[in-house]
Amino acid sequence: MNANLYALFEAAFPDDRQRCCIETHDGLYYSWDDLDRATAKLANLLRALDLPEGSRVAVQVEKSPEALFLYLATLRAGYVYLPLNTAYQEAEIEYFIGNAEPAVVVCSSKNFGWVSKLAFRLGTRHVFTLDEDRTGSLLQRAAEHSSAFTTVACKDADLAAILYTSGTTGRSKGAMLSHGNLSSNAKVLHKAWGWRSDDVLLHMLPLFHVHGLFVASHGALLAGAKTIWLPKLDVAQALKHLPRSTVMMGVPTYYVRLLAEPRFDELACENMRLFVSGSAPLLMETFESFKARTGQTILERYGMSETVMLVSNPYDPKDGERIGGTVGKPLPGVSVRVVDGEGKACAPGVIGNVEVRGPNVFSGYWRMPEKTKEEFTADGWFKTGDVGRFGGAIGDRTVPDDYLTIVGRSKDLIISGGYNVYPKEIESFIDDLPGVVESAVIGVPHPDFGEAVVAVVVRQSGVTMEPSAVIAALKGRIANFKVPKQVHVVDELPRNAMGKVQKNVLRDRYAA
Ligand code: ATP
Ligand code: MG
Repeated sequence: MNANLYALFEAAFPDDRQRCCIETHDGLYYSWDDLDRATAKLANLLRALDLPEGSRVAVQVEKSPEALFLYLATLRAGYVYLPLNTAYQEAEIEYFIGNAEPAVVVCSSKNFGWVSKLAFRLGTRHVFTLDEDRTGSLLQRAAEHSSAFTTVACKDADLAAILYTSGTTGRSKGAMLSHGNLSSNAKVLHKAWGWRSDDVLLHMLPLFHVHGLFVASHGALLAGAKTIWLPKLDVAQALKHLPRSTVMMGVPTYYVRLLAEPRFDELACENMRLFVSGSAPLLMETFESFKARTGQTILERYGMSETVMLVSNPYDPKDGERIGGTVGKPLPGVSVRVVDGEGKACAPGVIGNVEVRGPNVFSGYWRMPEKTKEEFTADGWFKTGDVGRFGGAIGDRTVPDDYLTIVGRSKDLIISGGYNVYPKEIESFIDDLPGVVESAVIGVPHPDFGEAVVAVVVRQSGVTMEPSAVIAALKGRIANFKVPKQVHVVDELPRNAMGKVQKNVLRDRYAA
């Protein structure tokens, strides 16, 4: 059997290929037949370029159905897809193109000048343009090709994509994902989240990241389900299309933004069967308010570029409750362990390093053999860099031992005066104080303690908040070594495109 991921999707197309596959915010309809023919034309164009096997196709374009088709065409043609964040500027693109050495680069026409200059200098053979209004040289060239294409045969281990990590904790690394990694995860999620052919996915996430490109798009494709396509989160547009949708995926900020809109209510979600959150921690406050406002319980899951999805709260109530603050249980076929510094399993409730194994786990970082070696244990487990625990308690509720809670990243762990301080624990105490929206706790260099605990607190609008009052409120509630030495009150936290708090930015800003 052909292990090409596209072949898996192809087999799941609805019998009636004239059915709507994608409906855009500006009123365009693409059928499954349109998807098939567009990806065939693009795959024929790529094959006609006579690229070496394993060539990378690097893509930095605005979100559009054609950008999705380009991804699918790259799979079909047997090349390696490499999406790039649209926010990246010259220095970043130079690093990615220099590191990945793509044979083909596709960019927005507004960036063609500098991108092509850079790409040709670094050895790229072909540079095309693709814009969100279906213009640009890529589609023009593809139009000359046949709309029939036989999907290239692949093995499970063949490379399908290189996904650069978000760069939250340091320089982005290119995670090498195979057809087998992606298809095993797509199949597991299809079942775990109960995807159906009559689902309608509201797609508002970017296409350059694991969440929007793989988790959301693969889900709809494998179900043969329709997608309502928005270029980005737009609350008014979301409100317009939610009543016709059944599944939505978002980063936590999407849910915060929806809740800020008074018109967002139970009625808007009448047809919805699943709201998924991930990529960053969902605040308990958001989880609870969402339930109170809509009657729906957000399903939080956990994954990363290197592994696609690992752990998910249950979809079916028969499999357990969705517990706010946790990311749920390991997905079928995925093994997750929490270990101490020596690699020994931690008892339930005890915090340690999260390590994983499974058919979804990548084979390594592109051209970083040393880094790859460092991040895998001798017995083949991938060290996620996240810190968490199975079981334990959240507030006064006991969490079952098979539920995982992520408490942060090992790089954000603060060691103050020889004590380990977990930022999330302090953040949850601060978040409970009146007038606080959210907070971020970081460590900054300190001459006596090694690192000092610093809290950055977002206040509710109109509230006055004295840093000294926050410190006073924490004293007596948590051990002295955990009480922040400094508190900064701000209006918002710096976040990247995926809603992740950029603690490195805060560390630079508040280093004494
Ligand atoms: P880099 O590896 O370059 O520092 P990154 O880890 O942010 O960047 P991604 O692969 O996009 O890059 O993100 C994966 C990370 O996102 C996970 O390791 C985890 O820290 C975080 N994450 C994902 N889902 C959740 C979740 N539900 N709760 C908490 N954290 C999450
Ligand atoms: Mg990471």
